[in-house]
Amino acid sequence: MKLTFCGGAGIVTGANYLLETGTTKILVDCGMFQGGAENKGWNQKPFLYDPKTIDAVILTHAHLDHGGRLPLLYKQGYRGPIYATPPTAELAQLVVEDSEEIMTTRAQEGGSAALYSHADVAGVGRLWRLIEYKQRQSVGDVQFQLRNAGHILGSSMVEVWAEGKKLLFTGDLGNELSPLLPPADVIDRADYVIIESAYGDRVHEPVKDRKEQLERAIEHVVKHRGALIIPSLAVERTQEILYDLDTLVEDARVPRIAVYIDSPMAAAATEIYQRHHSYLSAEGQNQIRLGDNIFEFPGLKITRTREESKAINSAPAPKVIIAGNGMSTGGRIIYHEQLYLPDSQNILLLVSYQVNGTNGRQLQEGATHIRIGEKDVPVRATILQALAYSGHADHDQLMAFVQDIQRPIQHIFTVQGDDEAAHVLATNIQDEFGINASVPKIGEVVEL
Ligand SMILES: [Zn+2]
Repeated sequence: MKLTFCGGAGIVTGANYLLETGTTKILVDCGMFQGGAENKGWNQKPFLYDPKTIDAVILTHAHLDHGGRLPLLYKQGYRGPIYATPPTAELAQLVVEDSEEIMTTRAQEGGSAALYSHADVAGVGRLWRLIEYKQRQSVGDVQFQLRNAGHILGSSMVEVWAEGKKLLFTGDLGNELSPLLPPADVIDRADYVIIESAYGDRVHEPVKDRKEQLERAIEHVVKHRGALIIPSLAVERTQEILYDLDTLVEDARVPRIAVYIDSPMAAAATEIYQRHHSYLSAEGQNQIRLGDNIFEFPGLKITRTREESKAINSAPAPKVIIAGNGMSTGGRIIYHEQLYLPDSQNILLLVSYQVNGTNGRQLQEGATHIRIGEKDVPVRATILQALAYSGHADHDQLMAFVQDIQRPIQHIFTVQGDDEAAHVLATNIQDEFGINASVPKIGEVVEL
């Protein structure tokens, strides 16, 4: 059989893998490329296959860099099933709806044309085939099942059996210490592993520290009457932060303070989390059973309309503002950044992976000025990081994940990481476990 790396290779985003046996063609993920212009340019290039010839798509999880080009696939004639867990399907539909709206607005303002239309997004909505973890499926001569990846609600790895061999696509692997989600399943056997490597060269701070970091940041803005602004992915990061804020406020570890979720999408995603609470960690489910609404607390305000969003600016400090997007490349966060970054009493707290070429990455690296639209914005606010909020496994967790898989493994491909991170992980897998490992390139085809 043949495996083609159509995206997510040597780059964090754009996950897209084509598996072909003699008779069957399966795609795992169909993500958007994100980051600087160089990354986004890939979205304009044709798919490396004819979408009409694909028999099935399996979606690992709802993030844009994994499912963001599904409507483009539909636009180009794909009408087969898209297999996913129920929360993944609901969250992914929300994510592509939001993506279409953003692209259409940009196009109307004179930017580049939207990759797809509202009708294409609605078309994707008709293709979902909902499956649970460990529910075996057959498509042609290929069998597969989803396993919990612990990354966001409903996130999956994919185990695939074809031509007598077993492949494992990890999708994004969760940070196993997340209190909100159950840890990823242990996979006992695989001939080939396609493993993510976003944090393949780094080790996170312990998760237990992240709540204290959040607490200290709140205390700082309370003391200095400033604003704490948090660029956050609407799906998962925001719910993790709400979950911690719920505890901090209810345990009276921080003064009661106005917390704005300035994102209609984050509000909608949080509702999906509440509806599918059986996919949460045992601890989260237990708190819900005891009657706690784990994503709500006194002082929380959700702003949906533009008017409500603008009104946050005139609300008195101290205040906390959580808005998308997580890498400060667009969304409502950039308006807050224009307003709050120039003043030293404010804090910007980074909680997500910052892709190369984004304003978020520049802030992370200590930029004293950033460019937002036409404006040059001075950065005098304190920039803090709480990377323990990362939804990704770090280097040590990825190595432990590989260690649990029985030998022999024929080959491991490290994907979904910047070149450096992917190479460090591949080298360490090879050195420590003696397993062949490599970093594929986009367009690379391997015979398995
Ligand atoms: Zn993800």
